[in-house]
Amino acid sequence: MTRLIFLGPPGSGKGTQAQILAQDLNIPHISTGEILRQAMQEQTPLGIKAQYYVNSGELVPDELVQDLVQERLSQPDTQSGWILDGFPRKVTQAVFLEKLLAETDQNGERVVNLDAPDDVVVARLLARGRKDDTEEVIRRRLEVYRAETAPLIDYYRDRQKLLTVNGDQPQEEVTQELRDLIAS
Ligand code: AMP
Repeated sequence: MTRLIFLGPPGSGKGTQAQILAQDLNIPHISTGEILRQAMQEQTPLGIKAQYYVNSGELVPDELVQDLVQERLSQPDTQSGWILDGFPRKVTQAVFLEKLLAETDQNGERVVNLDAPDDVVVARLLARGRKDDTEEVIRRRLEVYRAETAPLIDYYRDRQKLLTVNGDQPQEEVTQELRDLIAS
């Protein structure tokens, strides 16, 4: 049973790695950013509420993402495990998730912190060219990451759930390190 939370700055490669591992393990890759972008594209009520925040690099209000994660983690395909990518992104969300997992008997989650220096992540984001990857929005997303998300590293370290992998290496090497970690 693999339940993994991916932490790391935007551009650390966590989305790519989460997708590869989820495929390997045949478990769902749950990316809150992807779910939000899809909802925006379809202009669902969730998408309409989220778009201002996503397009400016701000965090979407907790309630919106928490509801969508709660709903997603109640789907039958999550019975055999999951990888969460992009959630939690702040301590309040981590507290919410901890409670949700306890209530639904889904424990034993581990947290992977995929680390990479700022200059590396900025270069990768600029090369990626997603709609919210303009220089200004990237700068804001990094600020938000440092202020809101990076504290989760200590949060999970204190709870002895944290694993750290160097994201500043070729993609295949990161994948191999992750496979070894998960198997151990
Ligand atoms: P990502 O694809 O993970 O880089 O997420 C893209 C954008 O979606 C972020 O910049 C936020 O605006 C929003 N988002 C994704 N996950 C969350 C979350 N857990 N909490 C708040 N906003 C989020």
